[in-house]
Amino acid sequence: MATTIAAAAEQTLLASVPTSLLIGGSWQASKSGKTFAVEDPSTGKTLLEIADAGSEDAAAAMDAAAAAQAGWAATAPRERGEILRRAFEAVTARADDFALLMTLEMGKPLAEARGEVTYGAEFLRWFSEEAVRGFGRYSTSPDGKSRLLVTKKPVGPCLLITPWNFPLAMATRKIAPAVAAGCTMVLKPAALTPLTSLLFAQVMQEAGLPDGVLNVIPTTSAGATTGPLIKDSRLRKLSFTGSTEVGRRLMADASTNVLRTSMELGGNAPFVVFADADIDAAVAGAVAAKLRNMGEACTAANRFIVHEDVADEFANKFAEAMKAMPTGRGTLPETKVGPLIDEKSRAKVHSLVKDAVDGGATAITGGAAVEGHGYFYQPTVLTGVSASARILSEEIFGPVAPIVTFGTEAEAVRLANNTEYGLVAYVFTRDLNRGLRMGEQLDTGMMGLNAGVISNAAAPFGGVKQSGLGREGGLEGIEEYLYTQYIGIADPYAN
Ligand code: NAP
Repeated sequence: MATTIAAAAEQTLLASVPTSLLIGGSWQASKSGKTFAVEDPSTGKTLLEIADAGSEDAAAAMDAAAAAQAGWAATAPRERGEILRRAFEAVTARADDFALLMTLEMGKPLAEARGEVTYGAEFLRWFSEEAVRGFGRYSTSPDGKSRLLVTKKPVGPCLLITPWNFPLAMATRKIAPAVAAGCTMVLKPAALTPLTSLLFAQVMQEAGLPDGVLNVIPTTSAGATTGPLIKDSRLRKLSFTGSTEVGRRLMADASTNVLRTSMELGGNAPFVVFADADIDAAVAGAVAAKLRNMGEACTAANRFIVHEDVADEFANKFAEAMKAMPTGRGTLPETKVGPLIDEKSRAKVHSLVKDAVDGGATAITGGAAVEGHGYFYQPTVLTGVSASARILSEEIFGPVAPIVTFGTEAEAVRLANNTEYGLVAYVFTRDLNRGLRMGEQLDTGMMGLNAGVISNAAAPFGGVKQSGLGREGGLEGIEEYLYTQYIGIADPYAN
């Protein structure tokens, strides 16, 4: 009976999700008439068929964004803030719908999906408040002979490209500051999880966003569809979240028109545990940093670097905690670990585990796919991982934790920084000075000190090295969508 009610609730929700493209304020089929299937990764079954945009649709979306730009930039900041505030209230009121939709199309457990709704909605609230704080300055030049007027203006039409792993938060983290700044947008969500973006776009419309400000074009041909937009001289900015590999290519394309770019790319986070750490707290932090989103997060702890004196205790307790996390369909209340997004991802995770084990590592828990429907993989802890194992240098994107050991603080720093990525690091120690020293020595855009999850709409999220450029959230987030204009004024006392 309960299963029937749950299935009916899923069907009712799916029936309310728009399945067409949003262009210039109207929901429309793609010009080619093509559609594609969005599937549930825990069953492999189709959830909905939705419109598949092509380059003609992208051009129409660009036309709409360009046409709306001047009027949108001229709206009162308070008006833009109020739209975001209403969207925050609406997403919060429909939290259960957004959570279930993300669980259905992406697979994460419902409790985590609810957490993402709170996190994703918080960008709407944060930037509704930031919208009215576009302060400039007026000052006297150093020689006293002129005046300097400095203001901020919206950069103009933006192309936003988002990944599949956080379907709501990755969209609101870009859309909210763009709305606050007065930019129009074309959003291309990932083909694997476009439904949340479509539902969110409808909420933005209902919150009063004018036609053409946000256009949404899901597509199965990302490069062919967005490529011409990136070369369109009316586009002013590209904000991308995804893999470093695709980000690099898009940066090269963006050079044609010298576009402003924000690049939130891959990670390879070190999780460093010192001998003086509270080991139980470190284990709890490790489970959170590893299993959040099944390990499919750019912020996921990828390498566990543990002091040799506490390595056995940490590994054993961590393995016990990982083993106790039930895998299953995200809609089931007991599920802690959902499926991976597709078979390709699961095969890649397993190839990394196999490479490590072939090189001498031991899987002290897990180490294999879960048999049956869906793309499930066992939560896995590997010890004795050799320095040359691929799993230490590649982004795992799955529930697998390789552990290596260190002796001195300098060695921990060297191991942690030994990657081309620099998004986030986690450090567990009871010594505050050591924690602060680690912050100074680690080449990462963010660090968690005795914390396994640090994402916060009020904080600047972003990386260094090949993890990207720019920051999302915090005071910095809106700056990505503004440019600075300086007006030099002659001495008002001169005549
Ligand atoms: P991805 O393959 O790079 O795709 C990201 C987005 O780019 C998707 O919308 C994708 O569309 C699109 N795309 C792919 N090729 C493109 C092209 N040639 N031109 C234009 N768009 C293109 O990454 P993913 O597998 O979705 O996401 C996982 C990656 O994102 C991981 O590396 C993760 O670390 C990173 N990530 C980073 C952050 C951060 O804030 N730093 C946050 C979350 C995720 P289709 O999927 O439809 O092809």
